[in-house]
Amino acid sequence: MTRSRGEGSGPTRRDVLAASLAFGALAACSRDEAPRYEGGWVGASAERGHLLRGGWPATKSGSAPEIAVTRRVGAVIVGAGIAGLGAARALRGAGVDDCHVLELEDTAGGNSRGHAMAGMRCPLGAHYLPVPGPTATEVIELLDELGVRRRVNGGAVYDERMLCHSPQERLFIDGGWRDGLLPPIEALPAAERATTLAQYRAFSAAVAAAGDDGAFEIPTARSRWSVALAALDRVPFAAWLDAHGLVAPALRWYLDYCCRDDYGAGSAEVSAWAGLHYFASRHGFRLQDDVRSADAGEGGVLTWPEGNAWLAERLAAPLGDRLHPGRVVRAVDEGRDDVTVDAWNATTGQRERWIAGRVVLATPLFIAARLLAAPPEALREATRVVRHAPWLVANLQLDAALDDRPGAAPSWDNVVYGSAGLGYVDAMHQSTRPFAGATVLTAYLALGAGGEAALAEQRRRLLGDDWRAWAGRVIADIAPAHPDLAAKVRRVDLMRYGHAMSIPAPGVRSSAALHELAAPQRRVHFAHADLSAYSVFEEAFFHGMRAGRAAAGQRAIDIGGR
Ligand SMILES: Cc1cc2nc3c(=O)[nH]c(=O)nc-3n(C[C@H](O)[C@H](O)[C@H](O)COP(=O)(O)OP(=O)(O)OC[C@H]3O[C@@H](n4cnc5c(N)ncnc54)[C@H](O)[C@@H]3O)c2cc1C
Repeated sequence: MTRSRGEGSGPTRRDVLAASLAFGALAACSRDEAPRYEGGWVGASAERGHLLRGGWPATKSGSAPEIAVTRRVGAVIVGAGIAGLGAARALRGAGVDDCHVLELEDTAGGNSRGHAMAGMRCPLGAHYLPVPGPTATEVIELLDELGVRRRVNGGAVYDERMLCHSPQERLFIDGGWRDGLLPPIEALPAAERATTLAQYRAFSAAVAAAGDDGAFEIPTARSRWSVALAALDRVPFAAWLDAHGLVAPALRWYLDYCCRDDYGAGSAEVSAWAGLHYFASRHGFRLQDDVRSADAGEGGVLTWPEGNAWLAERLAAPLGDRLHPGRVVRAVDEGRDDVTVDAWNATTGQRERWIAGRVVLATPLFIAARLLAAPPEALREATRVVRHAPWLVANLQLDAALDDRPGAAPSWDNVVYGSAGLGYVDAMHQSTRPFAGATVLTAYLALGAGGEAALAEQRRRLLGDDWRAWAGRVIADIAPAHPDLAAKVRRVDLMRYGHAMSIPAPGVRSSAALHELAAPQRRVHFAHADLSAYSVFEEAFFHGMRAGRAAAGQRAIDIGGR
């Protein structure tokens, strides 16, 4: 779940044996006795989300109920994710104070919301922000303002409490824990070592060559787009790796893991542009020895127990009562002089009408297309191009620390080699308590593999399956490294995302439709990470700030070429 590019093979017999033993133990547990933990679904109202598809809730016929309240305001932002909160910040910064944010859920933050278990905060989704590079100027300004970053003697200094403490990440492989997430050569079968090392180096060189010259910047709108990048965007990453002879199992597992981690889908689904962007946009692909010798500041990540909710909450705070949670926006109609926004107030059970001079739609693009009475052709096209990966996030509350296995010490990010999951982060990692004790482990499962039918099936299972089945799957996934986990879990709170993040499949990054939607519009502007072809804080925030400035009539932020 992090981005350092440390130093594999498929799972060893030992890993597989341990996994099957652990799974067997769980299966026996489910046959003979109920799991000892409690839990359930948290964080999202699927009913509210699905109101978007059906009719208005109060009427049996599905026809719209009477409008109970009408308000005229300067600006309305639909969606209080990072993009919506960024748009609000830009509008307020431009002097548009009469700006109101309507959010479907009960709290702001979207995919960057937090949770708490037994008094310990933990993430519900996004959990870290890499130390920003020089092109992420809006993020840098925000971090300066929040006191996370200071300038000292011309350099940037980050608040130590928020920089991820050491040890940052480890991999469970060959029966023990190793530093870093790249499978170390010495943990691989002897026959694979020389080839794998050569391919690690070859991939590292390919990343360095591709990343020259500003080709992979964050936000992506500030990259120098080229014919070469467009060619990379046409092919699946896995096919590109095959064509370059990069087939070592350890390298391929690691690259697939990275794609699932950042994009919600594996190397067969995302484009070669996305596969390279993951590394080239930050600090390359590095072997473990290179990681050790690198500048300590490089590869740093900012994290908080509640994840990026720390940032979302601070972005939302200045809005006060101009943030309106529990509002399901159902229709947006752009008129000649203003825009009409109709919303369902889930608290009062009433229909509200908001009339605004300008609107920012900070929802996923397929939702924006449903809301608009007359969606522009570019938006229709974008909904045909962009597919979203479903995700599952499980917060596992433990009363006591887990027993540890040989090797690297407990880290913030802990991954099991060869597993289908993405491992877990420890919400108490940043704590300065001098002992290991009660904590919350946040485990992630990206479910974006396969075509549209496979994605629909995952959504159906997320909605229909009992939470215990998903909790069991998550625990079984980590069990090879922690056989004592099932016995120590007290509670499992699960968050399901049907449409978590845009998959940067071949052709999405080059899509002219996305580019068109990111340009200033007449009265209804678009802001969401979907516009970048993939979802991270920096991209969402950039599009929010850009759309907010456009809505305020300020000079447009350059969105680059395509
Ligand atoms: C499990 C997971 C882990 C992640 N981890 C990281 C990470 O560690 N670091 C990172 O940088 N990024 C991470 N991400 C990516 C994350 O998506 C972005 O960082 C960012 O939060 C996206 O913000 P957004 O505003 O573009 O979209 P969203 O978060 O999708 O926000 C859209 C908002 O619109 C609201 N909305 C939708 N429809 C309506 C409607 N009709 N009416 C009113 N409101 C509506 C939604 O409720 C939501 O609040 C992760 C994502 C997931 C799902």
